[in-house]
Amino acid sequence: MTLPRIPFGKPFIVGKELFYIAQAVMSSSIAGDGVYSRKCQQWLEEHLGSPKALLTHSCTAALEMAAILADIGSGDEVIMPSFTFVSTANAFVLRGGVPVFIDIRPDTLNLDETLVEAAITPRTKAVVAVHYAGQPCAMEALKDICQRHGLLLIEDAAQAILAQSEGRSLGAIGDLGCLSFHETKNIICGEGGALLVNNPALIERAEVIWQKGTNRKAFFRGEVDKYTWVDIGSSFLPSELSAAFLFAQLEQAKRINAHRRALYGKYLSLLEPLAEQGMFGLPLSPGNRPENGHIFYLLCRTAEQRTALIAHLQQHNIAAVFHYVPLHDSPAGQRFARTAGALPVTESLATRLLRLPLYSEMTMEQVRRVCLAIQSFYQASR
Ligand SMILES: *Cc1c(COP(=O)(O)O)cnc(C)c1O
Repeated sequence: MTLPRIPFGKPFIVGKELFYIAQAVMSSSIAGDGVYSRKCQQWLEEHLGSPKALLTHSCTAALEMAAILADIGSGDEVIMPSFTFVSTANAFVLRGGVPVFIDIRPDTLNLDETLVEAAITPRTKAVVAVHYAGQPCAMEALKDICQRHGLLLIEDAAQAILAQSEGRSLGAIGDLGCLSFHETKNIICGEGGALLVNNPALIERAEVIWQKGTNRKAFFRGEVDKYTWVDIGSSFLPSELSAAFLFAQLEQAKRINAHRRALYGKYLSLLEPLAEQGMFGLPLSPGNRPENGHIFYLLCRTAEQRTALIAHLQQHNIAAVFHYVPLHDSPAGQRFARTAGALPVTESLATRLLRLPLYSEMTMEQVRRVCLAIQSFYQASR
């Protein structure tokens, strides 16, 4: 008898999502910037500690807004890791910018802050800190570097909701922070995101860019008497249907993350004995904190072993997946970006990293089943 499939991830409903959607439909408008959008924005501002949150239809959109706010033009450089999702780089390439990839740290898999300064040139405008798996980048060091060189610090906090660094929420520390509510993230609404505008000097322009380049927000606040086109911009807003779904998830956000952290802790304790025998590596965050339990990964010894383990888990009806193909190795990365220095850690880890199932409705029993299947793989291959 085969056991039921354990997927890698799964969308979920936690509370009043459908009720709030019905409420939104019965109100006078389901376009963006309505009641639920504002409730979500207020929640984010209060719980993450940012002066301004703007909901977007994706984290990709929030990154595109960040690239406009950073005034990226042709040939301007943006320092970032190569081990990230395409949108981190694409948002700047769309403005004519050049992503400059540096290597990552082997413990957090985040950009190595000690390599940033050597990558700075007269064309550098910004640094993008991607918090992989919700683990914080070295924010104090990055802030210091950006301040000394006059660079904008942008956080790609797509995976990092409610994770913290030294008591401050990720996404709310740099000048700008970008969040994702895509269905693969911790808090979801299908497709969705938010831009946190932490630098007050950027708030006014962010609102204009968000509203298709118009001064619509200032007009409705009665600050100007004409509603007109004042800057570049686009339609970056989600509809109220997405915002209504999202608000129900935000209300339960702490509970969702607490469960994910518990699953993460279970994986860690069940897999530690095998890791101690040198079978694979485990996440090594400074202080070993699970943060928001976004991703649980193993570092296999070789790429071949990873392929064999994925196949073995597949036979046990368990879906485990690898992650990014480093962007500097991708066709578009080679066309539009460049590297600063060698990227040995990125290149090695990308071929060995394996993500295990982790989702909101997963049970401790399912974590145990995944770990038993992993144990049986290493017993058989001994
Ligand atoms: C998911 C993700 C994105 C893109 O988020 P969308 O909301 O799907 O646009 C960007 N960066 C990172 C690091 C991500 O994990």
